[in-house]
Amino acid sequence: MAVPLFDTKLQNNALAAELQSTFARVLASGQFILGAEVQGFERQSAEYLGVRHALGISSGTDAILLALMALGIGPGDEVICPSFTFFATAGCVARTGATPVFCDVRADTFNLDVIDAARHITPQTKAILPVHLYGQAAEMESINALARKHDLKVIEDAAQAVGASQGGRRVGGLGDFGAFSFFPTKNLGAFGDAGLLTTNNDALAERAMLLRNHGAHPKYFHKFVGGNFRIDALQAALLAVKLPHLDTFSHRRAANAARYTEHFTGLPGVAPAHAADADARLILPITQMGNGHTWNQYTLRLPGAGRREALRARLAERQIGTEIYYPVPLHAQECFAALGQTDESLPVSTRLAGEVLSIPIFPELTTAQQDEVIAAVREFLATEKR
Ligand SMILES: *Cc1c(COP(=O)(O)O)cnc(C)c1O
Repeated sequence: MAVPLFDTKLQNNALAAELQSTFARVLASGQFILGAEVQGFERQSAEYLGVRHALGISSGTDAILLALMALGIGPGDEVICPSFTFFATAGCVARTGATPVFCDVRADTFNLDVIDAARHITPQTKAILPVHLYGQAAEMESINALARKHDLKVIEDAAQAVGASQGGRRVGGLGDFGAFSFFPTKNLGAFGDAGLLTTNNDALAERAMLLRNHGAHPKYFHKFVGGNFRIDALQAALLAVKLPHLDTFSHRRAANAARYTEHFTGLPGVAPAHAADADARLILPITQMGNGHTWNQYTLRLPGAGRREALRARLAERQIGTEIYYPVPLHAQECFAALGQTDESLPVSTRLAGEVLSIPIFPELTTAQQDEVIAAVREFLATEKR
């Protein structure tokens, strides 16, 4: 039985009638840029996330870029972000002319290591850009405390974590700005590229709103240089159909995660990430206390040269989809080589890039499909030459 890493068709097919009637409504309206559909989705998502302002944006990447622009970050500034994340986190910093400064992550949560972030603060540091990787919030209380102490801004890269919470509060409202992605494989998937920018700060919201539309106010009068970072009205209208189902999707992901953990726990050499010692052969992801994890990915770690590739190949033989998020830490990317940050100074990011493997966790994964994945992983562990 083939088990894909994700299947965007299943989720959308279940809502097809409502999506099609929504498409027909927007088509008939002739209003494709901003307007009522976008405003409706913005209100709905602000309410869902518990934030004062939510702006529909063209992509998650553009939401991060716009946040940086609205904070006035540019040449000569430094922004601290984790090295172990998707490229866009740091790519946006570089695009403003500022310098991304990479800090390490925690091996147990994959998220920004606040102590290491503190070590990277200089007089040029303007902001910290934590990532809620795989759907779990970074340690926002300590990050905000560090930011307050050094007068830094905080932008949450919440691209993978729509609906995730910490201390009962949803991510996106925990820093100065929150940036979300609706890339089709994220927890709330659009029909192309789309994103969202959130803030509780009225002045920042106002500035971001202008910059989203070329900095124009009124039309054709430009006080700032902005860009076109608008969400399509069609994407906003279709996302508004899916948003009420997001918690159901997230609960299914969490149930799938719990089932994996239950079935892998107790196998020889298997350890949860907070208790993994040097003998661990398969390390399971964990949820940090106080976090509502939304499981965009269920990411295993396989320490030891070649072992991650061996499991991946074994799963591929059984037509089970996997992916490596992410094989190269950002400090080691060619485009950032001139920054001179070394593997030795970012040991956890470097190690994780060689160990991680994400397995199917999407909400519509069936029990039979999940059993197939569990059996294949068990078989790998049982037959692996040691
Ligand atoms: C997906 C993602 C982005 C970018 O979002 P897009 O909508 O694809 O532009 C940024 N950061 C992280 C961590 C992501 O996973």
